[in-house]
Amino acid sequence: MNLADSEVVVSILQKEGYERVEEIEQADFVMINTCAIRDNAEQRIRKRVRELRALQGRHPQLRIGILGCMAERLQSQLMAEEDNVSFVVGPDAYRRMPEILKQVRQGSRTADTELSTEETYADIEPVRLHSNGISAFISIMRGCQNYCAYCVVPYTRGRERSRDPETIVHEARTLFERGYKEVTLLGQNVNSYRYKNTDGSTTSFPQLMEQVALISPLLRVRFATSHPKDLSDELLQVMARHDNICKCIHLPVQSGSNRMLKLMNRHYTAEWYLDRVAAIRHYLPECSITTDVIAGFCTETEEDHQATLEMFRTVRYDYAYMFKFSMRPDTFAHKHMVDDIDEREKTRRLEEIIALQGQIALENNQKEIGRTYEILVEGTSHRSDKQLFGRNSQNKVIVFDREEVKPGEYVRVEVTDCTAATLKGRLVK
Ligand code: SAH
Ligand code: SF4
Repeated sequence: MNLADSEVVVSILQKEGYERVEEIEQADFVMINTCAIRDNAEQRIRKRVRELRALQGRHPQLRIGILGCMAERLQSQLMAEEDNVSFVVGPDAYRRMPEILKQVRQGSRTADTELSTEETYADIEPVRLHSNGISAFISIMRGCQNYCAYCVVPYTRGRERSRDPETIVHEARTLFERGYKEVTLLGQNVNSYRYKNTDGSTTSFPQLMEQVALISPLLRVRFATSHPKDLSDELLQVMARHDNICKCIHLPVQSGSNRMLKLMNRHYTAEWYLDRVAAIRHYLPECSITTDVIAGFCTETEEDHQATLEMFRTVRYDYAYMFKFSMRPDTFAHKHMVDDIDEREKTRRLEEIIALQGQIALENNQKEIGRTYEILVEGTSHRSDKQLFGRNSQNKVIVFDREEVKPGEYVRVEVTDCTAATLKGRLVK
């Protein structure tokens, strides 16, 4: 999401005549787009800002700006604490960047962190950064108002709002015409996407996804993230109808314990979650399922932790992002609960989840040996330039000997070997 936002910022600034440079030494402005989701994300940014002092010593004209969620959370306090930061801009204020940079050039220090209920940057064509020319992100909505008890996002990104579907489809079509083969539709909870069109009709997420899928069978469509409480059968039916909608669903579970899920304000139970998993398996037997999980949320007992492990054993995720709970200022947990699981215990629980998931991912991958998939080739393998890699619809990476194939092509590959993280294969002609 931050990458997508940075692409919007670059677009806004390029229109004003600013140019993006490849070497930090050539820059007059350095902007860091930040995350506030866990404390260690913020600590890394602080470290980065301090490291930039040396560069500022060599280039006294250099100005540093902090963008994104950490900017929103700390506002002008961030400039007070980091005296080499000249501007702080929240996620809904990027249209005002040209004005802000003008003030900064005149010597001011500025914070603009006003949130909006409407801003979706719908009309701004992002400038693709670090792009392979094959896959791109498209932001379809902003903000979140689910208020999960542990989560800072509703405070840093504001109210949920959906972007005009016409502009989304237009952006996807333009990318396809330029040679892109894959788009990922982004939102904190894409299942609650809903847009009221000028003719009075509404567009839901399944409808939007179908419109994007119909651009071309050669354009793959992915999406993230799905909140389990809103995952509908209708969405799964649309996915089943279109081969180019990738069969991979990221369904963050957070915990396997109903007591924890209630405290987390997730609005579903373990039973509901498993019912949604069963629906995915029913409509989309080939679909991979991935998740997010938090170890050591307030009051979590060994029994709660065991319920999470049990959830992992039952669902057998293909991939998981696994985190230790980090208490975030402003959240419900911060105001009303105590961060009472000590660090060592959080680490132990997290490591247990990681070990179990590693085992499951390896076993899942071993079952892939002998199967053949269509993959979209993305580039040269990091390990060897004689090999390429691509992903199948399930979002699994497959590495294979390159032969005459080029990035951006679809090829068929038979899986011959695996690790817990990667599949190896050979081209099938
Ligand atoms: N909107 C997405 C999640 C976005 S944040 C959803 O609801 O599924 C990405 C992940 O970060 C979350 O799924 C959660 O697992 C993790 N996370 C959020 N706040 C956290 C916190 N305070 N401590 C640890 N992990 C957290
Ligand atoms: Fe955070 Fe919950 Fe919103 Fe996801 S749904 S961004 S976890 S508040």
